Amino acid sequence: MSVSPTERTLWVTIPTDRAAIWGCIQRRSSIERRREMAHVEPRFNEFHTSGPGLQLQGVLRILGGVYPAQHLFEDYYWQRVFLTLAGVKRDAVAERTAVAERLLVDFFRRDPNPVAPDGPRLPELAAHLGRRFVIRRERPGAVTIRDLQSWFGRWRAEELRLNGPSAEWWKQHTSFDEWRRRELDDLLESGVLEQGCTITCNGCGSQNWYAANRLAARVACPGCSLETALPAQPEWSFRVNELVANALDREGALALLLTLVELENVAGDMFLFLPPQDVFEGRNREPFTDIDLAFIRSAKFGIAEVKSNVRGFDAAGLDRIATVAEDWRPDILLLAAPGASWPPEIAAEFARLSERLEPRRIDVRPWLLSWDYPKAVLEV
Ligand SMILES: [Zn+2]
Repeated sequence: MSVSPTERTLWVTIPTDRAAIWGCIQRRSSIERRREMAHVEPRFNEFHTSGPGLQLQGVLRILGGVYPAQHLFEDYYWQRVFLTLAGVKRDAVAERTAVAERLLVDFFRRDPNPVAPDGPRLPELAAHLGRRFVIRRERPGAVTIRDLQSWFGRWRAEELRLNGPSAEWWKQHTSFDEWRRRELDDLLESGVLEQGCTITCNGCGSQNWYAANRLAARVACPGCSLETALPAQPEWSFRVNELVANALDREGALALLLTLVELENVAGDMFLFLPPQDVFEGRNREPFTDIDLAFIRSAKFGIAEVKSNVRGFDAAGLDRIATVAEDWRPDILLLAAPGASWPPEIAAEFARLSERLEPRRIDVRPWLLSWDYPKAVLEV
């Protein structure tokens, strides 16, 4: 680049993250084909941000980016406040498995005779499960400052008793102090939490929550439309932003956030990424598959498949990802899920995948995500 001394404005074109990643894909996918063909477009030459991708983008916009998200989730207290307010179970699969186990024990306690696939007890077992297999996903209503304070005390006592990985953190954070209140203000400011109050309707007795920005001297009941006057001293309460709550609630979004946090966790390193993308082959209108993340870090290009559970991977899904990887030739294919260890059958799938992609020099990298801090650094 040359700049003339008389030039007062310097224009630098910075490629978008999408353009940078597309550049990587084009260059790599043509490298080994050049010998036979002059120029070939990649087989998977279209990708668009998917529904979950747009949702993740929206959440990151509200949280202020990956780094503030990390800051928020590093704090055991706020992390749990968000998950609780969003009605999220950390491990929905484990929870459902526990329910299924309880129901089966129940069933066989009443009658220990075995259930054969074509025997008379099969409909009986199915009916037993059908009647009772209910998982309620409850999102609690708005919480007051008093709730937030009492949660703090309760969770702290609980975690210190369990003496798990977060115990050390809780020892250092003794109360819901001024500092916490200031953080609460910041969260309201950024819109991650919303402030409002619950007003009981004079007409029908319904308890309705109104966001502060929609309050007036008289508020209409969404049920019976009757107007009720705002109480003289309303008690403020808080809810988590709807978009954030929905994203956290959707299985997978939290694991994606965790992956991003662990990928970005190297200070000073260049890191850019694309949220979940639908990937298309040629002019097909149906996506061939979706890629959870595409990223460039430390001058390496990677794609990632992220699941919310270590058992979430299946052979067919991995096969499609591998097919895209063979075309795009990333340096790394990251396979991430929160958990303590990989089940043997999943580890075997990964080994097969690694063998398949080895000739293309693609490093297949299983990665266990952890909720606990300090965060592991993902070396790429
Ligand atoms: Zn009403």
